[in-house]
Amino acid sequence: MKVHWRYTSPTRNTYAALFAACEQEGFLLEPTDGPAPDVTCYSLNSLNVRDLAPEMAEADCITIAGGPHATACWRQVSEYADYVVVGEGEYLLPALLSCIRDGRAVSLPGIATKEGYTPAASTVILDAYPAFSQMKGYVEISRGCPFSCAYCQTPRIFGRVMRHRSVESIVKYASRYRDARFVSPNALAYGSDGRCPRPDRLRELLSALSNNIYFGTFPSEVRPEFVTEETLGLITRYCANTSIQFGAQSGSDAVLQRIGRGHTTADVVAAVEQCAGAGLTPVVDIIVGFPFESDDDQRATADLVRWIARYGKIHAHSFLPLPGTPLARSLPRPLSRELSHLLGSLALNGKLTGSWRSLEIGFSHSTPD
Ligand code: SF4
Repeated sequence: MKVHWRYTSPTRNTYAALFAACEQEGFLLEPTDGPAPDVTCYSLNSLNVRDLAPEMAEADCITIAGGPHATACWRQVSEYADYVVVGEGEYLLPALLSCIRDGRAVSLPGIATKEGYTPAASTVILDAYPAFSQMKGYVEISRGCPFSCAYCQTPRIFGRVMRHRSVESIVKYASRYRDARFVSPNALAYGSDGRCPRPDRLRELLSALSNNIYFGTFPSEVRPEFVTEETLGLITRYCANTSIQFGAQSGSDAVLQRIGRGHTTADVVAAVEQCAGAGLTPVVDIIVGFPFESDDDQRATADLVRWIARYGKIHAHSFLPLPGTPLARSLPRPLSRELSHLLGSLALNGKLTGSWRSLEIGFSHSTPD
């Protein structure tokens, strides 16, 4: 049985992880730029689904969909995909492929079809699967997040318990790179429950890595309250990056509370100051256009952005209502002239990246060190 992966550049890290998981079970996911027999697998997100859904509907082969959009909207996706992998794919995708190859009926918890769906009964232990094999990707060190930011799909897909890959396994995969980068919802939470830093576990990991390490920067951004003198000391001692990227998301404490961020603007200010003191450039993520932002909230965000720009850089993007989140049915609020003008002028001065006007670009790329 031939199995293909519908290749798209933004989903290449998922491809790398699932290629390795399927390879263990004897399936090679060949990349393809369109549906191909016998089976083609798709990773759907809110940006690519408009192009890929019609392609799947017309496909002359068995189609399998997974990814954040398929997880959130499995019922809708199962109208045009033969099977939908809901949630994590490392165990489910090879198990599903085995059923299809052997002609067995598919009754796996976690696999949805038009007929229905039973939720998966377990979560993935990262060490049970390779980070990648011949298709290289960033090394995923942690999965799951105990926070519940109202705009974010991560805890709704991967759960609220943070799981970590072992130091030994991370070292093994990072050693295949000269410059190693990592995936985590909060890299500075490595080894912890995701709420309180564990600098001892962080030190154990970073001191075991011998190549150029880029940590706490793209694509492993962190939370502001994890940016402390101690954690930054570990970054400056063991890592090659000269910047730290963390999320502020808003300059308004009322908005932060409403979206359930679990930190305040004072935490953001403290993190920026800690970075500046440690000689690291803070790169701060901001989301603009939350549906319930008032003029005062946008003014507060403008003030914070202006202040951050004195010490570092801003990565801004528009609020995007993602399916499966509490804000899925909300519309972005237009930006005030003041905020729009400020973001534009900072971008012209090289202080700001991202896209705060186009939903299409905002989530699709970030800038490495
Ligand atoms: S935005 Fe970050 S901290 Fe908030 S829920 Fe998502 S992964 Fe967790």
